[in-house]
Amino acid sequence: MVDRTEMLRELGLTPIWRLRARAVAPVVRDAAVAEDAAPKSVREAAPPGDERLRRIATLEWREFASDVSACTACALCRTRNKAVPGVGDVRAQWLFVGEAPGAEEDAKGEPFVGQAGRLLDNMLAALGMKRGENVYIANVLKCRPPGNRTPEPLEVESCRPYLDRQIELIRPALIIALGKSAATTLLNVDATIASLRGRLHRYRGVPLLVTYHPAYLLRNLPDKAKAWEDLCLARATMQRLTTA
Ligand code: URA
Repeated sequence: MVDRTEMLRELGLTPIWRLRARAVAPVVRDAAVAEDAAPKSVREAAPPGDERLRRIATLEWREFASDVSACTACALCRTRNKAVPGVGDVRAQWLFVGEAPGAEEDAKGEPFVGQAGRLLDNMLAALGMKRGENVYIANVLKCRPPGNRTPEPLEVESCRPYLDRQIELIRPALIIALGKSAATTLLNVDATIASLRGRLHRYRGVPLLVTYHPAYLLRNLPDKAKAWEDLCLARATMQRLTTA
């Protein structure tokens, strides 16, 4: 049987991250990051009506997943296999937000279960955390864009009320935006990860940090060092926020 280290090596995910230093490493600013620049296509999306917004804004956990799975607010409902509402501890202090489900997530109905998800699990382990324990994982979009293309603005706006409700229900101490798409969507700016990481932002009043998307890190291994700095900053920030 292949042990975990061997498996990670096979997947190109080594070295396995281990948190050693307690000090926050200085943030190094880098050159612009060329994350997913897939061409955009025009997609239809229904503008969210007041009634839908009111319903989503008052959803409780017991009805949340089924509401997402029944959503037809944008065209992605026609191509999805499973909607991917989110997974984890509904009282978590940590909320990780990615971009959108990929093929494996669409098949399983759970976020970050593919290769990028394995790296995310390693990032969590580096913080001494485990999926489902004091951490909740969600995406900006709950349905897979065909071919993993970048989400369209109308899709994002149709889906945003769900993420906003998740944030209200979880009330996390800290949000970590994974990748450019999640970061620029939540912060409503057009900027690179390089310019956004290393400092504290807020989304709907909740402190938010930005780091690279695990899928990007799999293609750009040298940037793992910067993601490591981001995790150190995240851990120190969480400590400050929860012991203040
Ligand atoms: N990438 C994301 O942003 N989210 C997932 O759930 C999987 C891959």
